[in-house]
Amino acid sequence: MLNIKNFREEAHKMVDWMADYLESIQDYPILSQVEPNTIYDALPNDPPQDSESIPQIMKDFNELIMPGITHWQSPNFHAYFPANSSRPSILAEMLTATLGTQCMMWSTSPAAAELEEKMMDWLKTMLGLPDHFEGTIQDTASTATLCAIITAREKHSDYQVNQKGFSTQKIFRVYCSTETHSSIEKGVKIAGLGQENLVKIPVDEVLAMKADLLEKAIKEDIAAGYQPVCVVAAIGTTGTTAIDPLKSIAAICQKYDVWLHVDAAYAGNACILPEYRWMIEGTETADSFVFNPHKWLFTNFDCTAYFVKDRQTLLKTFSISPEYLKTRKDGAVNNYKDWGIPLGRRFRALKLWFVIRNFGVKGLQAIIRGHIQMAQDLSKVIEKREDFELLAPTNLNLICFRYHPPHIQDETLLNKLNADLLHAANASGQLFISHTKVNGKYTLRMCIAQTYVEPKHMWAAWEALLKCLP
Ligand SMILES: *Cc1c(COP(=O)(O)O)cnc(C)c1O
Repeated sequence: MLNIKNFREEAHKMVDWMADYLESIQDYPILSQVEPNTIYDALPNDPPQDSESIPQIMKDFNELIMPGITHWQSPNFHAYFPANSSRPSILAEMLTATLGTQCMMWSTSPAAAELEEKMMDWLKTMLGLPDHFEGTIQDTASTATLCAIITAREKHSDYQVNQKGFSTQKIFRVYCSTETHSSIEKGVKIAGLGQENLVKIPVDEVLAMKADLLEKAIKEDIAAGYQPVCVVAAIGTTGTTAIDPLKSIAAICQKYDVWLHVDAAYAGNACILPEYRWMIEGTETADSFVFNPHKWLFTNFDCTAYFVKDRQTLLKTFSISPEYLKTRKDGAVNNYKDWGIPLGRRFRALKLWFVIRNFGVKGLQAIIRGHIQMAQDLSKVIEKREDFELLAPTNLNLICFRYHPPHIQDETLLNKLNADLLHAANASGQLFISHTKVNGKYTLRMCIAQTYVEPKHMWAAWEALLKCLP
């Protein structure tokens, strides 16, 4: 067993390992090159009966585990959306692990509850969210969206589904665009509403929800005896960062008294830039709003910011003790176990505090602005090329494009060429990009958002991709 003296020594060595890794991260092939089951088969079938030393474990970590790691923090990582970390965030995570607190209630660590409350205030100010919002940190946007759907369900059933189940209710309907994230569908299923009652509204040519068709669907549902309970608007879809017309959607939700949940998981982070706040105009009347600092605000996964207009509705849905009726004015405090699904909670506010203080809001703004500028520059280059085309507008820093030489018109062949190109580029180890389908077209997705990405990394990745052309 590790005594405190050895712990101190090993921890010092570990910090050196961490700094060495971060210093040389760009030299690793980004995607792990291992074959399936290599790592599983290399590990012993039975757990050790006797103590093994940390150096022994670290040796195996380096030899067995590291080859199977995909390097998400590499500045050459341009796939999916990032799961950004940063140096101050890592330091805070070390403290979080060391304290090992369970932050379910105020009393189980008053500092955690109060720092969380303050960090949510800071984030609200940073994004220019409505003053009346109150927030809590959740593990993921999927969980936050599930909370929103369940809360909408409870509000519309006068909290009766929680008590009696669905038997006395009409059939509830939820709406989102055809481009919305799969977490909405998952949430609707788990909330017991039934996947068939998720109505997918068609999108326009820039892949944003058609608000007029939303209103039409709601009207038709009401006429058919259904009860519309929730609309999920996407600010920055996962496929292409399409931006639903929030103002129009918000007006429709008000008119028909439907819960409006804003899923800004990724793009919400750009709202720390005043010039991008137009994307969330309409949030004033939204019931809930989610974004992920763990995607693009340099804060280790997991850290999701979930805001609600009326916290009483949330607490009435999730609280398991009568304390939800108390407010701060009564001298009460926030017990965040009542603000969502899990009872136990990590001390996640700490890393936000470290990140926001160490970068400063201006520092964070400069990085995000830089990412958007870089992507815009590359997007222009791609647009000008004869043999490439953009398949969606580059709204922020996600470029959706494909290889399309003028002499090839066959869509099946184009899909194959682009799938091959993606595979070859990723196999080069020099960059990692992902793909989606836009109107059936195989689309390469390149996201310029890694914490420490610089123009030199992006252009090198682009050159490496070009080398893989057939
Ligand atoms: C990533 C993403 C999600 C899911 O985020 P998790 O935190 O991993 O659950 C939801 N919606 C959108 C638009 C996303 O981009």
